[in-house]
Amino acid sequence: MRAMVYHGPGSRAFDEVPDPEITDDADAIVRVDATTICGTDLHILGGDVPSVHAGRVLGHEAVGTVEQTGSAVRTVGEGDRVLVSCISACGTCRYCRAGQYGQCLGGGGWILGHTCNGTQAEFVRVPYADASTHRLPASVSSEDALMLADIMPTGYEVGVLKAGVRPGDVVAVIGAGPVGLAAIIGARLFSPSHIVAIDVAARRLHAAKVFGADVTVSNCDSEALHVVQSLTDGLGADVTIEAVGKPETFELAVSLARPGGRIANVGVHGKPATLHLEDQWTRDITVTTGLVDTYSTPMLLRLLATGQLDVRKFITHQFSFDEFDEAYDTFAGAADTGALKVVISR
Ligand code: NAD
Ligand code: ZN
Ligand code: ZN
Repeated sequence: MRAMVYHGPGSRAFDEVPDPEITDDADAIVRVDATTICGTDLHILGGDVPSVHAGRVLGHEAVGTVEQTGSAVRTVGEGDRVLVSCISACGTCRYCRAGQYGQCLGGGGWILGHTCNGTQAEFVRVPYADASTHRLPASVSSEDALMLADIMPTGYEVGVLKAGVRPGDVVAVIGAGPVGLAAIIGARLFSPSHIVAIDVAARRLHAAKVFGADVTVSNCDSEALHVVQSLTDGLGADVTIEAVGKPETFELAVSLARPGGRIANVGVHGKPATLHLEDQWTRDITVTTGLVDTYSTPMLLRLLATGQLDVRKFITHQFSFDEFDEAYDTFAGAADTGALKVVISR
């Protein structure tokens, strides 16, 4: 089969590789009908994720059709159309029992396209298929479901739910990439009074408006604090969601929150970020962190099936498997191409 293979920092190729095989009785082999590229794949290619070794098939998001299952798989079978989640789950360890699949102790967690071969391929072996795939209702398209493999649960769980967005809240979202935009969609479910989106890229601020932000602010000037204060009688935001992953944007997220406010960090940080406790210790703030668990995926799928979640607007570009290199170039050049999510399908 053909697959997008990581060959070390800066190097990838759409290679011919052996088909995956069942190696554990909890595995399923899924024929990939549609897959996509994540910012994390670009981080891997940049050499930022040393736990990914050369030779690894990339990708942790897919919708496909089950080809074959191991003898222990109970809930999905040959011919089922499934969503392959970015997080795999053994389903029985302490963390899986608590729904914290991202922390799985039984060999799950973020493994696809990381420590085992991933979804940017014609076929993928999905370990622990029962708890790591979701059967799709006929009314949900493969492209829409694909948006629930990673970005939607990430923005919703690690951003909106960890921060506890409530009706009437003023919510500031820093970073309007796919994850920040997913947080905006997710926050809307709770009827906030204002969502303020903050980014440095004009195209992304435009997207934030389309996705439901009420106010957009360029972070190229120092207007964000002024804008948030003017909406909140000078107090600050009830909730801030950090979806960039830089020291300065984490510090901005803390400084924009009101006393008693909640700050959810979603961004992946490569460098230390400072929490200024010398300023913050009296302010009753709550700071949360997290890796996505994908426990919200069944609920998000129900909202998709009933037409209450519009994720189609994430998809800015579509490619075939023959155009995989072009898909990567388009996604990596988002500043020029305006790419949010690119879908690669058969
Ligand atoms: P992205 O790179 O597409 O988006 C980041 C956005 O931040 C861009 O629109 C960029 O213009 C903006 N930005 C950059 N510098 C800025 C600044 N100084 N001020 C304001 N905005 C700025 O990334 P994404 O795919 O949307 O992911 C967002 C973050 O979430 C990344 O750090 C990613 O690694 C992380 N992430 C976390 C999890 C998790 O489980 N916690 C899962 C997936 C992704
Ligand atoms: Zn991802
Ligand atoms: Zn587990």
